[in-house]
Amino acid sequence: MTANKTLLLLPGDGIGPEVMTQARRVLDWVQKSGRATFQIFEDHVGGAAIDAYGVPVTDAIVQKAKEVDAVLFGSVGGPKWDNVPFEIRPEAALLRLRSELGVFANLRPAKVFDALVESSSLKAELVRGLDIMIVRECIGGIYFGEPRGIETLPDGTKRGVNTEVYTTHEIQRVGRVAFDLAAKRQGRVCSVEKANVMESGLLWRQVMTALRDAEYPDVALSHMYADNCAMQLAKNPRQFDVIVTGNLFGDILSDLAAMLTGSLGLLPSATLGAKDATGRRPGFYEPIHGSAPDIAGKGVANPMAQILSLALLLRYSFDMEEDAAAIEAAVERVLAKAGRTPDIKVEGRPVISTTEMGDALLAELSAT
Ligand code: NAD
Repeated sequence: MTANKTLLLLPGDGIGPEVMTQARRVLDWVQKSGRATFQIFEDHVGGAAIDAYGVPVTDAIVQKAKEVDAVLFGSVGGPKWDNVPFEIRPEAALLRLRSELGVFANLRPAKVFDALVESSSLKAELVRGLDIMIVRECIGGIYFGEPRGIETLPDGTKRGVNTEVYTTHEIQRVGRVAFDLAAKRQGRVCSVEKANVMESGLLWRQVMTALRDAEYPDVALSHMYADNCAMQLAKNPRQFDVIVTGNLFGDILSDLAAMLTGSLGLLPSATLGAKDATGRRPGFYEPIHGSAPDIAGKGVANPMAQILSLALLLRYSFDMEEDAAAIEAAVERVLAKAGRTPDIKVEGRPVISTTEMGDALLAELSAT
């Protein structure tokens, strides 16, 4: 059978290769089911690519990332490369890949698994069943706006400048991602900005409203100021379905939402671009955690965030909702009854290794 999907695996550094090995086992399980065949490419990225090729990402890897249907990324960085020149630091690979793929909408699901409800920083009754999606515009706004810089004033003191800037086009394209997602979820989008004090926020609000009216009449749209959204996330997070916001507010609010779920080792993310004429959309998938040098090589990393990133890839890039949901349900069952890696250990349950966590997941998947 010829492969009907292509993907590039970039495990990276530290725990990246350890957790990617477990995600690869899950890919093999999907493939064995006969529902899809994959042509899988794999290469170095980050520090591993600096060691192998002298740069954190090569032109050939960037080209391959553009050709495949989706990219599954691990994590990059570590003390070994702390002193390399700034332009070739491991993290530069991530920025180059994201920008060359043209992915602009960062999706961060914040879902609380029943088995981990007690690990949340909020009371269990506030977060039980929580399932929200934060869509953050990630290649525009104040992190990229011009003018920017630090200048010296006539009196010798300095002035630092950054510019929050959004165009109609930038707001519409991230808005469409949020509305499309909401249409497949509970049908509600909350658009977040500071329209009360920022013109860019006022435009954001106007464009989102016009977009909903023109293209998504069935999706409910509400608006909220970013400061209130932070309060509401801490007070009553289950009121949200999809939150869409700009780069700066999204950076902060998605980290706040992540903490509601309890563990870094369980949080996946997806970054999507615009659909082309054939309906194909670039997709870049990665756990939100880093390379965890403190535990790398010890075989104790939690592989679930990487595996859940694969589930998002199957859902959003390959339209394989059933497989994505089966993987997420199996992760939930493992958390409910099997041993756990040290980061989420609980009394009365054995502490297990990365590979054993993978074994437990595969056993659950095979039993379905
Ligand atoms: P980190 O996410 O790597 O680790 C923070 C803490 O969480 C550590 O104690 C780590 O052991 C733990 N942790 C993270 N993932 C885990 C997992 N799957 N299982 C169990 N425990 C886990 O963040 P950091 O320590 O700030 O950064 C370490 C390196 O990773 C740095 O070089 C940083 O630049 C890089 N980094 C890369 C990415 C990326 O590749 N996207 C993201 C963040 C940080």
